[in-house]
Amino acid sequence: MSVFNRILVASLPFVPKFIVRRVASRYVAGETLDDALRLVGELNRQGAMATLDLLGEEVSERDKAVACADEYVRVLGRIRADGVDSNVSIKPTMLGLKIDEGLCRDAIERIVVAAKENGNFVRIDMEDRTTTDATLRIYKHLQERYGNVGVVLQAYMRRTLADIAAVTVAGANIRICKGIYVEPRDAAWKGYATVRANYLHALEAMIAQGVYAAIATHDEYLVCRAVALLRKHGVPRDRYEFQMLLGVDEPLRRILLAEGHRLRVYVPYGRDWYPYSIRRLRENPEVARHVLRAMLAGQ
Ligand SMILES: Cc1cc2nc3c(=O)[nH]c(=O)nc-3n(C[C@H](O)[C@H](O)[C@H](O)COP(=O)(O)OP(=O)(O)OC[C@H]3O[C@@H](n4cnc5c(N)ncnc54)[C@H](O)[C@@H]3O)c2cc1C
Repeated sequence: MSVFNRILVASLPFVPKFIVRRVASRYVAGETLDDALRLVGELNRQGAMATLDLLGEEVSERDKAVACADEYVRVLGRIRADGVDSNVSIKPTMLGLKIDEGLCRDAIERIVVAAKENGNFVRIDMEDRTTTDATLRIYKHLQERYGNVGVVLQAYMRRTLADIAAVTVAGANIRICKGIYVEPRDAAWKGYATVRANYLHALEAMIAQGVYAAIATHDEYLVCRAVALLRKHGVPRDRYEFQMLLGVDEPLRRILLAEGHRLRVYVPYGRDWYPYSIRRLRENPEVARHVLRAMLAGQ
C-alpha cells in the first residue's frame, strides 16, 4: 500500500460518514432484508451462492442477543419463502457470547434449529482470539447434535492446525480465511508469506481429514494454490467451495464460476454498516482513489 493510501487509511475515522457510505456501498447489500434478498437473487442468477450476514457488533444486553437470534430465524424463513440459494453467517458476540456462553449457545441453537427446519445451514464466523475456545465449543456441540453447522478458522492463528484436528467431527465444514483481527505475535503468525503458508497447510490438513472446505480468500496466489491442491487430492466439486466478500474482486469471482467451481458471496446487510465498511476500506489497496473520487463527486 502506498504512503498516501496509508495516510488516508489512518484518517478514515475523520472522513464524513456520507462519503464512507458512498464508497462502501459496494460492500453492503443495503439496510433491509428485502435489499439483501434482492441482491442474493441477482448473485444466484450469476451462478453464485450467498451467505447472509446481519451487520452489528458485540452486544452487552441479553435482549439484543435474543432480538438478533429472532432476526436470523426470520431471515431463514424468508430465504426459503423467496426460494434463493443462501445460508447465514452469524457472529457469536452479537448473540451474547461476551455476556454468557450459555445464552449465546441457546441463541445459536435456536438459529440452527430454524435452519434445520428450513433445510439450511449456519456458519459461525470467527472473531478475535478471546472468543476462539468458546466458539469452537459451541460449534462442536451443535454440529454433533444437528449436523448443519460450520465454523471458521483463521490461517494467521498459530493454533489453527491443532484446531482443525480438534474440531473435525462428523460432517465437519470449515471456512478457512486469513483472519482480520489484530492479534499479538505469540498468538498469530505475522508475515504475509507466513500466513499464506499456514493457509495452505490448513487447507491441506482439512482435505486430508475429509473436511468440507470453504476457501475464503481474494488472494489470487492462494486461489491458484488451492485449485492445484484440490486437483492433486481429487476433491469432488461438491466437497468444497470458494467464498468471497461482496464488492471485492468481482472479476476473480466470475473467473472461478466460469471455470466451474462453486462460489459463495458473503452478503452483509443492516443498519450497522459503518464499522464493517471501515474494515473493508482499510483492506482496499485503492482506498485513496475511491475516497477522493467520492469526495469530488460530492462537490
Ligand atoms: C467469505 C469470507 C468470510 C470471512 N469471514 C471471516 C471470519 O469469520 N473471521 C475473520 O477473522 N475474517 C474473515 N474474513 C476476512 C479474512 O480473514 C481476510 O481479512 C480477508 O479475506 C482478506 O484476506 P485475503 O485472503 O482476501 O487476502 P488479502 O491479501 O488481504 O487480499 C488479496 C487481494 O484481494 C484484494 N482485496 C482484499 N480486500 C479488498 C477490499 N476490501 N477491496 C478491494 N480489494 C480487496 C486486493 O487486491 C488484495 O491484494 C472473511 C473473508 C471472506 C472472503
